[in-house]
Amino acid sequence: MHRENLRIDGKRLRTALEEMAKIGATPGGGVQRLTLSDEDKQARDLFIKWLHEIDLEVMIDEMGNIFGKRAGKSTKLPPVMVGSHMDSQPKGGRFDGILGVMGALEVLRTINDNGIETERPIIIVDWTNEEGTRFAPAMMGSGVWTGKLDKDWLYGRIDIHGKRFGEELERIGYKGGRPAKRWPVHAYYEYHIEQGPVLEREKKLIGAPKGIVCLHWYDIYVEGTANQVGPTPMEGRNDALCAAAEMVLKVNELPAKMGGNMVATVGEIHNFPNSRNIIPDRVHLTVDIRSWDEGLAVSAWEDLKADFEGIAGRRGCPIRMEETWRVGHTPFEDRLVKRVVDIAEQFGYPSHSMVSGAGHDATYMSQVAPTAMIFVPSIGGRSHVEVENTRWDDCEAGANVLLHCVLQSALEV
Ligand SMILES: [Zn+2]
Repeated sequence: MHRENLRIDGKRLRTALEEMAKIGATPGGGVQRLTLSDEDKQARDLFIKWLHEIDLEVMIDEMGNIFGKRAGKSTKLPPVMVGSHMDSQPKGGRFDGILGVMGALEVLRTINDNGIETERPIIIVDWTNEEGTRFAPAMMGSGVWTGKLDKDWLYGRIDIHGKRFGEELERIGYKGGRPAKRWPVHAYYEYHIEQGPVLEREKKLIGAPKGIVCLHWYDIYVEGTANQVGPTPMEGRNDALCAAAEMVLKVNELPAKMGGNMVATVGEIHNFPNSRNIIPDRVHLTVDIRSWDEGLAVSAWEDLKADFEGIAGRRGCPIRMEETWRVGHTPFEDRLVKRVVDIAEQFGYPSHSMVSGAGHDATYMSQVAPTAMIFVPSIGGRSHVEVENTRWDDCEAGANVLLHCVLQSALEV
């Protein structure tokens, strides 16, 4: 068979995704596979079993990142890497992350079935804790591997039950012996659902993101004065929740105010003591600002900070603001992005040049290796929810593009 006619097996890809979707399946049709949970372990065990079935050399590092290596003709040339993550949001979807890992597995199965020898090794990867929902921040595995995050700091991160990341990693048996340290990489590809509405709206099948927006996270703590709600008159109250409510709306209004391409969100809020008959005396809320234009995101925060201080002062509620995480915007490698577009075109798949609004392991990878991503449409633009869905045909199409991207890179000398 001519190599250009090579196709992945869509049915086999679907079966793999369906098998994985059983692990941590939720009644609403989604999955809950939180990082380092028992479900995460189960998914890892199954993944490794599948890696062994196609004779890959399996490696696990001290962050729990799992690698499966298929040798190339050369042992000296840097490998091509391909993968994503298998952890999920609480009550998350069946495609986020796992499509990129199962897609990569299907690519390797196809290459294997056809006995293709590549010049370079190909390494499939499952990165630990991409979601950052049980343990913050996100993208820990790729962050440490690329030298951008500190391993010991992350080992000490705790979840809401006080469990430590490092101890949980050990508990599920995935604290590997290899240092989480990068090696030279020839190209990194990550296949993922779009998680937004753009491809569907534009009626395009393949998204070729030119990069990922910047991502700025803040934690805000507002203090009030607790008191019995009945006897305390309205005037003179220091209600932390009312101050927070005004702040939430300021965040929502921010993108329109700043103009340009930006989104801003408060997604998490904790109210204390959270009792119907006590005036709230403490609120913790998070702010997430994303834009392709980093300068705009920074000046938006400056603007917001001033608004927050104004609200806090007016309501007599002291405020503390912390910058939790900042990741710059990430341009991908032009040559590889063009390859995604070209291959999609050869297949007759309509493609669309875009920007990714979600963070991915490709964010860190692109800082150390030529990187590109492949997107396929999310039905209704929904993601991080149980109804997250992508057509099986679209899953297959994206994996075919991935196959030829990986092959072209792996055949380069
Ligand atoms: Zn993801």
